[in-house]
Amino acid sequence: MTFAGSAAGPAQFPRDGLPEVAFLGRSNVGKSSLLNALSGQKDLARVSAQPGRTRLVNFFRVDDELYFVDLPGYGYARAPAAEREGWERLVTSYLLGRDPLALCLFLVDPRHEAQGSDEMLRDFLDRHGLPRVVAATKADKLGRGEVSRRRQEIRRGVGSSALDVIPVSARTGDGIDELWRAIRAALKP
Ligand code: GDP
Repeated sequence: MTFAGSAAGPAQFPRDGLPEVAFLGRSNVGKSSLLNALSGQKDLARVSAQPGRTRLVNFFRVDDELYFVDLPGYGYARAPAAEREGWERLVTSYLLGRDPLALCLFLVDPRHEAQGSDEMLRDFLDRHGLPRVVAATKADKLGRGEVSRRRQEIRRGVGSSALDVIPVSARTGDGIDELWRAIRAALKP
């Protein structure tokens, strides 16, 4: 996986037509760590946390197979309205009408209840018919029983009956292969 560039708007999105998997979740959910874990590299996604890049759409190319698209995190309780609108404009400009977009990877932290902003994202994806896989991050912080209990709650909250919630840990690597399988299954024509 290689960093393929940042975009402030549609004019800068890639044009080679490879399928894209968009990463969405609240700030601090573990998005950069998960990108690194999926790529098997340690520091790659750190570029997206560099000052100035957190408000951009960052593209990571996985060989000739696909792009991982790192969308800015949402849900800072204290973010000013103008900033939230900026987030919406950028993310909407990506999510709507983006032909190569094959799958949204919706990340939730299973230690917290679904927040209003998660439910808004769920409704947005539903309304626009955007397919999603839900991953519960930082699974190593919970015991097994707790993981499976939260899994059911998350499925009811932001998942869908047709989809499973995949617990993952960037720290231990648990669930990373399963998540890759779910991504590849979703990309099949
Ligand atoms: P982002 O803001 O969504 O990109 O989140 P980061 O990947 O920067 O992670 C936010 C915090 O959660 C950091 O302190 C990470 O070390 C921690 N974190 C991320 N993934 C895991 C995980 O799988 N297990 C544990 N225990 N901590 C994690």
